[in-house]
Amino acid sequence: MAAAVVRSDSDALSETDTPLTRGVLAVVYAAAEMPLEDCKALMDGFQAAMARGLAGQESDLKMLPSFVTELPTGKEAGTVYALDLGGTNFRVLRVVLPGDGGEIKTEFRSFALQQCHMTGCGEADLFPFLASCIKETVEQLEGSLPGADEPLPLGFTFSFPTQQSALNQGTLISWTKGFCASKCVGCDVVAMLQKALNALGVHVVVKALANDTVGTLMALRPKEPNTSLGVIFGTGTNGCYVEQMSKIGKWTGGDVTSGRQCINIEWGNFGASVPSRKLLPVTRHDEALDTESLNKGEQILEKMIGGMYIGELVRRVFNAAADAGEIMSGRKERIEAGGLNTELASAIEASDAPGLVKILEQLGVPAPAASDAKALQKIAMAISGRGARVSACAIAAIVQHMERVGTPTVVGIDGSVFKCYTNFKARIEACMRDIFGDDALHIKLQLSEDGSGVGAAVIAATA
Ligand code: ADP
Ligand code: MG
Repeated sequence: MAAAVVRSDSDALSETDTPLTRGVLAVVYAAAEMPLEDCKALMDGFQAAMARGLAGQESDLKMLPSFVTELPTGKEAGTVYALDLGGTNFRVLRVVLPGDGGEIKTEFRSFALQQCHMTGCGEADLFPFLASCIKETVEQLEGSLPGADEPLPLGFTFSFPTQQSALNQGTLISWTKGFCASKCVGCDVVAMLQKALNALGVHVVVKALANDTVGTLMALRPKEPNTSLGVIFGTGTNGCYVEQMSKIGKWTGGDVTSGRQCINIEWGNFGASVPSRKLLPVTRHDEALDTESLNKGEQILEKMIGGMYIGELVRRVFNAAADAGEIMSGRKERIEAGGLNTELASAIEASDAPGLVKILEQLGVPAPAASDAKALQKIAMAISGRGARVSACAIAAIVQHMERVGTPTVVGIDGSVFKCYTNFKARIEACMRDIFGDDALHIKLQLSEDGSGVGAAVIAATA
């Protein structure tokens, strides 16, 4: 039998496998299959890492307390702003909470982040820019800026690992998803945003800091009271869930005998340590991508699933298969770095044969062979299919940890990869059925529309 986890081409070569399993493509396709026993091993390792994180021990999973202990009821009321800094997109939202469980009204403005905001100085570039966008949006949507006597509340969705010490206080632990702005790690990001707002004379008060997963869970909860997990499949990936206080061993913030709290797992970092990395079906292409990233050795699971990475992995595998002579029949063209993003990978999966040929032409391969175009599609399916199976294992591990197998459970999900990537949701569901059989029918993956923004507003309204 083949090894449970094929780690790289060279590893595979050292095994007594048939020659067929030695090629670039064969290794990638095998890694994508993730048989049930590998899924279960991954779930076990994930749960062990969760337990260590909750106990305050060294773990890939930071299991960060969110300070969100009140679950929304739909009775939250008022006009609240939210700032959603996700990784690719940055939005300022105006959210009107009706207070009677009725429809939440939202308006928003989107802004593009420039490289200088992501990699410049946090204090001089990023946060002043965020504050200026808030100012512009409030002026537009309110008609004028609020007075000092009537400041507007704001919830700050900040989708990076943050150690919170209060609902409105949190220190950035590390940047992810291509950010590396200086003078931010180790600083309170709420204080930085408030300072930038004050400097502009904008009377907006940052009431709450929320991870996007927590916002996603909170936004769906009033409509779907069984919502117990919040998940993001966007630029990166992460999950949170509602934990019993008594199980958060490291919590020193008050009553631990009763009540619940949302825990931000920061699951994207699974695989940072060697034992957990061995449970993931990583290949040498993942290793190469990681080596060239800004956060080498970190966020290994995220680098298999996030929208920032799927397209790039497809590109790397295609080029490696061409280099190995498995496709492209000796042709010299290769897909350029940055040429294949995740949106295109999704389009590749949805394309018919003539469409695939056109896409490969756009990628710099004139008049490609139909077989090369088909190979590109198979590679995309393998990379995203593997991502979906790993995602299903993470969700399944949490559901099992919560002892909710067989109990109706809603997973609130936000992010463009979940919303748009061809067959992504169906593949997660298929893997959940492999794992739980009919019990998987009790787990509902539900889009939390605008959840990452609206949820922060809901949390700010309860603050
Ligand atoms: P953020 O992570 O900033 O909150 P999104 O949830 O919109 O933003 O996710 C952005 C990621 O989704 C990008 O990496 C992009 O490649 C990917 N993406 C955008 N549109 C699509 C699409 N139609 N299909 C698949 N992936 C997409
Ligand atoms: Mg987002």
